[in-house]
Amino acid sequence: MSWLSNFVRPKIRALVDRRNVPENLWDKCPSCEQMIFHRDLEAQLNVCPHCEHHLPIGPETRFAALFDDSKWSEIELPKVPADPLRFRDTKRYAERLKDTQARVGRSDAAIVVHGRMGGRQAVVCAFDFSFMGGSMGLAVGEALVAAARLAVLQSAPLIVIPSSGGARMQEGILSLMQMARTTVAVSEVREAGLPYIVMLTNPTTGGVTASFAMLGDITLAEPGALIGFAGPRVIENTIRQSLPEGFQKSEYLYDHGMVDAVVHRRDMRATLIRVVGLLMDRHPTAEIVGLTEKSVEIPKAKTPAKAPAPAGSDADGGDDSDD
Ligand SMILES: [Zn+2]
Repeated sequence: MSWLSNFVRPKIRALVDRRNVPENLWDKCPSCEQMIFHRDLEAQLNVCPHCEHHLPIGPETRFAALFDDSKWSEIELPKVPADPLRFRDTKRYAERLKDTQARVGRSDAAIVVHGRMGGRQAVVCAFDFSFMGGSMGLAVGEALVAAARLAVLQSAPLIVIPSSGGARMQEGILSLMQMARTTVAVSEVREAGLPYIVMLTNPTTGGVTASFAMLGDITLAEPGALIGFAGPRVIENTIRQSLPEGFQKSEYLYDHGMVDAVVHRRDMRATLIRVVGLLMDRHPTAEIVGLTEKSVEIPKAKTPAKAPAPAGSDADGGDDSDD
């Protein structure tokens, strides 16, 4: 057997150059378990064509679907200390961070971009769940502050798309402090009188839910997304009761008033444009004609008041006597 696996298999591998053979032409839907051709999945923005299950999607693919002509520019974020606590679990945090940066190809979990959406300037801060579970540490806090300030500078709405497991435990108290920091950041947008819209995606949990993600003027959510503070398993173990069907899912939160709308991924751009338009255009949609005495003749009060008065008093009198 060892001869087969150590000698024959590498030889065959070398013969068939793996780079030329894409490994996953087909993806399996985790919900309905049907096979989906990768091109179909891409065309549908990673939504299963059979059961409408929303699969994870990268921030760039999302931006391409949201911005006008798929054009946006990313802003450079301030550098933060890489491993302030010199934390170590099974691996040193600094090392884990470096590995993830190399694998995912970005410096941290949050990205801030700006561009036009429906002809209007918009600032978007999106999370990449593949970067350490989209966890919020110093860098993510910095990204949100930068996004909020950019929105104020451009007089543009701020749209945040979280996808996060919560605070980054490797940064301890510093990660928890980002909850307060991001809350202050988004309140700057509100003070400037600009819309702050949150688009919740699967999953949004922990410290992210407990801070900026629940503070939107309008909160949208993708269908079937898990949104909550503690996960359902933790709650079930704590209260020792089974949870209702669909607990902590977008639709459940919509029914209980935590989310304003559950929006399909393909309708997200149109919905955002409409919502931002409604919040930003403060002037009325139609021209208002001023009412002046000259333009409209106001009937004098005497003539219409006379006719109904006797009928009304008669009816009242009759009712009273019957009672
Ligand atoms: Zn499916």
